[in-house]
Amino acid sequence: MSINPYGWIEESLRTIHRAKWYRSVQEIMGRPGAVVRIDGQELINFASNDYLGLAGDSRVIAAAIEATQLYGTGATGSRLITGHRPIHRELERAIAALKQTEDAIVFSSGYLANLGAISALVGKRDLILSDQYNHASLKNGAILSGAMVLEYAHGDVEGLKFLLESYRNAYRRCLILTDTVFSMDGDLCPLSKVVELGETYGCMLLVDEAHGTGVFGDRGAGAVEYLGCTGRGLIQMGTLSKALGSLGGYVAGSAALVDFLRNRAGSWIYTTGLSPADTAAGLEAIAIVNQEPQRRAKLWQNVKYLKQLLVESVPSVASRLLPSESPILCLQVPDAQTVLAVGEGLKAAGILVGAVRPPTVPTSRIRVTVMATHEKAHCERLVEGLQSLLKS
Ligand SMILES: *Cc1c(COP(=O)(O)O)cnc(C)c1O
Repeated sequence: MSINPYGWIEESLRTIHRAKWYRSVQEIMGRPGAVVRIDGQELINFASNDYLGLAGDSRVIAAAIEATQLYGTGATGSRLITGHRPIHRELERAIAALKQTEDAIVFSSGYLANLGAISALVGKRDLILSDQYNHASLKNGAILSGAMVLEYAHGDVEGLKFLLESYRNAYRRCLILTDTVFSMDGDLCPLSKVVELGETYGCMLLVDEAHGTGVFGDRGAGAVEYLGCTGRGLIQMGTLSKALGSLGGYVAGSAALVDFLRNRAGSWIYTTGLSPADTAAGLEAIAIVNQEPQRRAKLWQNVKYLKQLLVESVPSVASRLLPSESPILCLQVPDAQTVLAVGEGLKAAGILVGAVRPPTVPTSRIRVTVMATHEKAHCERLVEGLQSLLKS
């Protein structure tokens, strides 16, 4: 008698269902925006990373079409073989100019940027110190690198200092990893203190600006700009796929760092270059970030308005709000079952939010993201929906 070697998969799926951890996809029709259609139903969209509304912007779309006409649909090869196009370099220069770094390198996604950069920068003889709430791509990059990985409690500068004092000297190189804007909580890292510690203990510091770029700072350069750390010798990674409305990731820093990554980052060397359409869309989005600060201003007006509505709402809503300094606002809910029910209830009321559960986060929460293209009435509808669903 032979056993089915794949039988465990269905067993595992049953366990996922029992824990209310099961996830599935839903089809969104038409262009992305503040209002989207799912199954013929119109929904106000509070679940998008498209903070500036650029993923559906006609100019960004036109740039992608034009690049496709000019260069075709695929890059057709690795950047080091046949996949390198003039717009790749143009995009890298535009990112470096936005970040005020010497250079930048574009990866096929932010996830790949983190895997490639971290595993190139440290290895078995080295130490990684990582915020407990860091994004999965930072955590997986750390594992891939083979370095010793120690986590410090979320945002805990004293905890980080303790680890540095205790362990730094036992290792060759040390790399500190942190999100600047924490994607599932919406708070910011204490960046200037982390930068100082890094300098004191001779560590490299890689910051993940996925939710910062285009959103924070007078110029939209990110939370590094907003927190006054521009030019402090950081390695800044980020994505083209959130406020910039395209697809792709990047690492910005010194010319030597970028040159090194072109020679050592496996997730850049052994994969196909970013498609012409994605590259041109990212480039056009950065031009819009530079030219239209009013989009950023509108986003922050909306954040302020929604936060005020939430704080002033009934106690059963207001008391659940997690501290946030970003367009990501989260409401804590007791368990996975409740968060799913609230998400479904809001959907029935025409509102789309993120219902985030373990293992993505330690505790279940409704996750709301604000866009520059939301209207006041959208925010009001959301808060009304939350008030009627979170009565108890
Ligand atoms: C989305 C995200 C990434 C990954 O970026 P992609 O371009 O979508 O792969 C990395 N880090 C953080 C914090 C993110 O939120």
